[in-house]
Amino acid sequence: MSAERPFEVAIAGGAVVGAALARALRGTRVALISPETRPPRTDAAVNAPDIDAHVNGGFDSRVYAISPGNAAFLAQLGAWGAIPEARRTPVHAMRVYGDDGASLIEFDAYRSGCSELAWIVEDRLLQDALWRGLENQDGLSLVSGSSIQELEIAETQASLLLEDGRTLGARLVAGADGARSLVREQTGIPSEQHAYAQTAVVANFACGRPHRNIALQWFQGGRKEGAVLALLPLPGNHVSIVWSVGNAEASRLLALDARGLAQEVAAASCHALGGLDLVTPPRGFPLQRLVAQRLVAPRIALLGDAAHVIHPLAGQGANLGLQDARMLAATIGGREPGRDPGELRLLRRYERARAEDILAMRAAVHGLFRLFDAKGARVAQLRNAGLNFADRIPVLKNLLMRHAMD
Ligand SMILES: Cc1cc2nc3c(=O)[nH]c(=O)nc-3n(C[C@H](O)[C@H](O)[C@H](O)COP(=O)(O)OP(=O)(O)OC[C@H]3O[C@@H](n4cnc5c(N)ncnc54)[C@H](O)[C@@H]3O)c2cc1C
Repeated sequence: MSAERPFEVAIAGGAVVGAALARALRGTRVALISPETRPPRTDAAVNAPDIDAHVNGGFDSRVYAISPGNAAFLAQLGAWGAIPEARRTPVHAMRVYGDDGASLIEFDAYRSGCSELAWIVEDRLLQDALWRGLENQDGLSLVSGSSIQELEIAETQASLLLEDGRTLGARLVAGADGARSLVREQTGIPSEQHAYAQTAVVANFACGRPHRNIALQWFQGGRKEGAVLALLPLPGNHVSIVWSVGNAEASRLLALDARGLAQEVAAASCHALGGLDLVTPPRGFPLQRLVAQRLVAPRIALLGDAAHVIHPLAGQGANLGLQDARMLAATIGGREPGRDPGELRLLRRYERARAEDILAMRAAVHGLFRLFDAKGARVAQLRNAGLNFADRIPVLKNLLMRHAMD
């Protein structure tokens, strides 16, 4: 056990969710433990106003659709403005097509009285923005280039053994260490995990027709193993795709040459954006569903993918994680003076506050996946009728949107 005064919070993992939590805890004595080292980014290509320079500098093929609520949270943290404005692409409308080629549900920001439904930002730029200035943050100790190897929970503090042999003490360990969370596993919090037998193929393309800031999505149905293709707007005439397909199909797509892949994506998206040209090499992400049965244990709180992993068809995984970070920081920041941040009764406030949102989003996303993965003409008819029906009920659409925009 470390002889030094324990940190109030040790955060395991410094990707989007862990870094956001670290920023939100400004002023608290925090250790942020991240295996990755992240030098501040000074890449001129990122800041250049010319879109062509961005393409040459390279778009990141991993992008997030960030909800307006989380964009506001990131702005409060000082991270939103650190993403160059030209690389934050607003989504003004969204069209989701069923697998019969005709049914459709449309969401429109303007008609709903808001300026955008979401923002598309690149993973690398978001992470850079979150890390910028962290090294000078009041109360924060950065422990980068090392990971947690072992965790021991005692009455008054948790002890963390790091890969480099150091030990740290903390009143609370926040596990933002992703789907294979060591914090979750070593604390014995049970989780339910299920592989979707799908891989998400991501890549960026230049498109022949303007995307007009509209996100497009096609459910391809049971005959295509529940495949879902999304085209998300990027700066200029560029789009990022997330194409969730069966594992064998993903291997086939990833092995195609640039032209072959562009042709397949253009055909699957009904040539909605004209011809496509690949601008970043494709990457594949195996998909799974995971739910931790508890978010908290004595001196432990889980957040982000350590607590819940959902299918990317609704683009909500990181959004849920950022909401966790918001709520955990508010719980810690709002506690009574002198109260131990690792106390289980306090942590239960966080768990209770997050339970409903997480359950609702998990159920909606998995439900949609199952509905569009199911085979058979009758079920196909029903799901497509359901899309059309939902499209005609403004109250229902507003409810769906409000949930995704938080
Ligand atoms: C194809 C695809 C598209 C997606 N699109 C969207 C989208 O549009 N919108 C959206 O909201 N979500 C989206 N998601 C979901 C989103 O990517 C994840 O929910 C999010 O990245 C999870 O972030 P995290 O910080 O919780 O975990 P991770 O990104 O997994 O980060 C975990 C961190 O913990 C570190 N770590 C691991 N072990 C240790 C250890 N022992 N000690 C210390 N650190 C450790 C890791 O190195 C890593 O840095 C998408 C997912 C996929 C696969």
